[in-house]
Amino acid sequence: MKMLPTVISNLFNKAATRNYPFFVRDPFVTARGELINDIDRCIFCGSCSRKCPSQCLEVTKEGTMGTWKLEFFACVGCGVCVDSCPVNCLSQKPTHRAVAVVRETIVMTGKLPEKPAKKTAAAPAEQ
Ligand code: SF4
Ligand code: SF4
Repeated sequence: MKMLPTVISNLFNKAATRNYPFFVRDPFVTARGELINDIDRCIFCGSCSRKCPSQCLEVTKEGTMGTWKLEFFACVGCGVCVDSCPVNCLSQKPTHRAVAVVRETIVMTGKLPEKPAKKTAAAPAEQ
């Protein structure tokens, strides 16, 4: 009998839970989801991979090309890499990547930025 008021109010009030997966809550705007790299802006400095607490990023350089690899199954979505990127080419979507059954690594390649030409010493003025 003590629970009767609660039972009656629950019959007429809005449900406190959602019928997932038929009703999915919209993500919060600041939610940290899927990691995205705008590879054309990446300078392959390796800052993201050095700071990643999960060690799921690898940045390598060979010749004029750079490679950025993400082991996304190991990524915890902390956003440390996004904060450490000096050119802001990393971002996170508010939603998560779709569930997958095959373990994959995301591999992106791009051109390394050109090094500025070395300054040549000015010739001493003739006297
Ligand atoms: S920190 Fe940014 S610029 Fe540097 S390698 Fe990572 S994604 Fe590229
Ligand atoms: S979001 Fe965190 S765990 Fe994922 S790659 Fe970036 S630093 Fe690593």
